[in-house]
Amino acid sequence: MSAPTAGIVESETSTGDVGTVILLGPPGAGKGTQAKVISARFEIPQISTGDLLRENVSHETELGKKAKQVMNSGELVPDQLVCDMVAERLSHGDCRKGFILDGFPRTVSQAGWLDRFLASQVFENKKCFGAPIVIQYVVEYNALLQRLTGRRSCPTCGRIYNVHFQPPRTADVCDVDGTRLVTRKDDREDVIVERLKAYEQQTLPLVEYYQSRGRLLKIDADRPMEQVAAETLAAIENGDRL
Ligand code: AMP
Repeated sequence: MSAPTAGIVESETSTGDVGTVILLGPPGAGKGTQAKVISARFEIPQISTGDLLRENVSHETELGKKAKQVMNSGELVPDQLVCDMVAERLSHGDCRKGFILDGFPRTVSQAGWLDRFLASQVFENKKCFGAPIVIQYVVEYNALLQRLTGRRSCPTCGRIYNVHFQPPRTADVCDVDGTRLVTRKDDREDVIVERLKAYEQQTLPLVEYYQSRGRLLKIDADRPMEQVAAETLAAIENGDRL
């Protein structure tokens, strides 16, 4: 192995590693579904801030107690709380060769924090330090509303269904493990409207943030999930040429 240079540990397997992948897009765009496909293909973890926060809420941690009310209203949890949670998650060994950020960053301030954080860390894969690959999933507003109101998920394996487009074989039951499917508390129409508003006002400015850094790739996600997945995987494989 070559000697570490300037705090960077060169990985013998870094060729083909993907580094940092950021999935940007409104709630319901399919980030979680695509993150699972990317995770399986490149063997890097999916880090969903929404899932981590929901775990904290269900375990009634201090963070969970602070986040619960805000999440139920469809607004964003304060930057500092989310950034601390992400920093802790990125310190786990499974992130050394890369990771997928699903639902983070969501504000320009979180994106600035992430840039500084990545620059200050020693990951095994030097690509984690460089500009991340940022994929923006684009879906039209009414399609999002329909996706979110029809969304059901399995509390055991995390698989996501949609009663309109991708129903389970038996109504309300997971195909994989037979668990009864659940509807997220914040997938009620009044909360959905607030979440989409938060996306437009606080997260859309990130498109400009990453575009100006030359690493943003837009994907039309208003298509069958397999087509979106094929384009996503190809984009990541060609990451160096973005
Ligand atoms: P999601 O599952 O990504 O739709 O997130 C569910 C909720 O968790 C959001 O509506 C926010 O209240 C909160 N949340 C998730 N990620 C973030 C983030 N990066 N910044 C602030 N709040 C977040």
